[in-house]
Amino acid sequence: MSVETLAQLRNEIDTISLEILQLLNKRAAVAQKIGMVKSQSGTTNKFDPRREQELLLWLVEQNQGPLNDETIIQLFKEIFKASLAVQEQEQEKKLLVTRHEQTPDTVINVGAVAFGGQEPIMIAGPCAVESEAQIRAVAQELVANGVQVMRGGAYKPRTSPYDFQGLGLEGLKMFYRVAKEFGLVVITEIMDPIELTAALPYLDIVQIGTRNMQNFALLKAAGQQEKPVLLKRGMSATIEEWMYAAEYIMAQGNEQVIFCERGIRTYENATRNTLDISAVPLMKQKTHLPVFVDVTHAAGRKDIMLPLAKAALAAGADGIMVEVHPLPSTALSDAQQQLDFPEFSAFMTEMKPFL
Ligand code: PEP
Ligand code: MN
Repeated sequence: MSVETLAQLRNEIDTISLEILQLLNKRAAVAQKIGMVKSQSGTTNKFDPRREQELLLWLVEQNQGPLNDETIIQLFKEIFKASLAVQEQEQEKKLLVTRHEQTPDTVINVGAVAFGGQEPIMIAGPCAVESEAQIRAVAQELVANGVQVMRGGAYKPRTSPYDFQGLGLEGLKMFYRVAKEFGLVVITEIMDPIELTAALPYLDIVQIGTRNMQNFALLKAAGQQEKPVLLKRGMSATIEEWMYAAEYIMAQGNEQVIFCERGIRTYENATRNTLDISAVPLMKQKTHLPVFVDVTHAAGRKDIMLPLAKAALAAGADGIMVEVHPLPSTALSDAQQQLDFPEFSAFMTEMKPFL
């Protein structure tokens, strides 16, 4: 084969490659249009396996070679996948949670505290509200360590119905009253829409827990009121599902959502959950909302909470949640994982340079 012929053939290949490139994009543009038509008719699921199968069979029938049928199937499956991705990207672009090029980071101001602002925020407090003495002691400890946001559950989502379920509305009222004496912002978990209405005057931020991330009635109710919502990641939820859960809240008109990664279920049992640290930069990339990390429920053990908290901030988290209790061994829930006061003070001292 002469050098000239090789050059000619290469030229021909380049021209064909360019044509394929143009055709692929032409195909993707049509796929995009199909996606839009499907959205308009209310179909959110863009994947149509039946249609794909029919198309593949038809293409194989048309195949004259030299590429064999398996290769054709493989190539077209990749093309289908790319088209589907284009349709899904289009869909994601339209969401309220999604970061767009011009979207500034959302900063949620509660009193003097800016969630998603310049400085990382610490949220600390007991797992559950147990007594006024307990709340008072923790509030004092938080203030002494420069913490401005206090957590504490009055409605507890317990695995067993026979375990302590929380003090309910009366406990929350007491928590709110005492926390306000100390000038603290109050965040507390709510589990159902009816409780939410009653509890709203006694909280600053509504927490939706991992077990309720897809409680759509609760998400809608949280979206129909004006206080910010901290949305924990479902323990088995993908990042996409988590974003859609936030979309439920935002679609109702409340755009003040704070994400909180709290570990996911994996086969690993050295920790209570597996802290998905990748979720932090991914959520910062995909959304404009603040992203927090709850190191307590992620680890379920005290000895690695500090490095996890540092890792979370290094990964771009806007703040940390941690549980603290005056006497953890007597706690009515999560006794093993709550820090006592000396442990909490030491934790805060180590965290200070990063806050
Ligand atoms: C909590 O923060 O009190 C709690 C129950 O956490 P999670 O929903 O992440 O388990
Ligand atoms: Mn807890």
